[in-house]
Amino acid sequence: MRSGRVNLREVHKAYGSFRALDGVSLDIKAGEFLTLLGPSGSGKTTLLNVIAGFERPDLGSLLVDDVEFITRPPHKRDLGMVFQNYALFPHMDVFSNVAYPLKLRKVDRPSIRRRVMDALEIVHMQHLADRRITALSGGQRQRVALARAFVFEPRLLLMDEPLSALDKNLREHMQIELKRLHRQLGMTTIYVTHDQQEALTMSDRIAVLDKGRIIQLDVPATVYDRPNCKFVAGFMGETRFLPVERRDQTYVLDGRPLRLADTRAASSTGEAWLMVRPERLRWQGDADRDNRIEGRVLDVVYRGDCNQVSVSLPGGHEVAIRHSGAERQPLPQPGDTLAL
Ligand code: ATP
Repeated sequence: MRSGRVNLREVHKAYGSFRALDGVSLDIKAGEFLTLLGPSGSGKTTLLNVIAGFERPDLGSLLVDDVEFITRPPHKRDLGMVFQNYALFPHMDVFSNVAYPLKLRKVDRPSIRRRVMDALEIVHMQHLADRRITALSGGQRQRVALARAFVFEPRLLLMDEPLSALDKNLREHMQIELKRLHRQLGMTTIYVTHDQQEALTMSDRIAVLDKGRIIQLDVPATVYDRPNCKFVAGFMGETRFLPVERRDQTYVLDGRPLRLADTRAASSTGEAWLMVRPERLRWQGDADRDNRIEGRVLDVVYRGDCNQVSVSLPGGHEVAIRHSGAERQPLPQPGDTLAL
């Protein structure tokens, strides 16, 4: 039964005059881990709710394994769902929560026992099967919610910010676990987050949304390294932008010609943005002679794994560079002049 191919075509959804989804088309492969990433209000949850059947689009189609799903009620869509707030039954123990979808589907008792315990083992909760939900930590509850979502081997696993209530360490741990789980189970997974790091860590592909549209759809490394517009570039990583000018075949920053690895078509007026990320800037010693630029250190912030140095450039622009301690140069101080 399980395949889980999803095809959305020109999906529109408005609330009054507000366009929450403005013509979304998206093809998700069977078994893929696809993340909907975007700022607050960009339409991620609305799109997930259209796939789940909680929202009916005004226009457009949704095919799952070539079958039209728009008119099908949520409980007949064969979906597992995980939300930020777990949505578990607090009065039941762990086992009964995970068993619930199997009971609904009238699975026989011995199979329920076996499948629930298998699912609990996958999320490392088998030893807590008898525990009440109210006696679990946030991370444990989220694991139970996950087990309940995949125990009946749904065609699609939908997750809406499932880790955002957890603290940073646990969240990062769960990201890796979820990724492993996905590899193990191979279910088509559609994951909503506004956290770009989470999206980069977990996804086979990322769909970046803004104002109800998909702006870019690609594998994480491409979305990060080759964003197709300024919005995506700015949303991923700690990006700064410097205005450059195109003269003949080269780009010029503050009067200096640049040698660039990747240039996108600038507008016909010859103005463009140079995308600069802290981890791609180098210190004086290693600095590419073609692309050397001097600035003044504004501040130095200790971040544990590095110091982040903010540098003001001629023209009032600011970039950041990381000092990991492995550089030959000593840690600069505010006011120092630095060649990048
Ligand atoms: P967040 O990360 O904040 O959850 P999101 O990208 O998931 O954001 P959606 O929840 O899809 O965004 O909402 C998209 C827009 O649609 C928002 O501006 C929201 O206010 C609006 N919206 C969503 N549901 C409704 C509704 N039932 N009635 C009116 N407006 C709505």
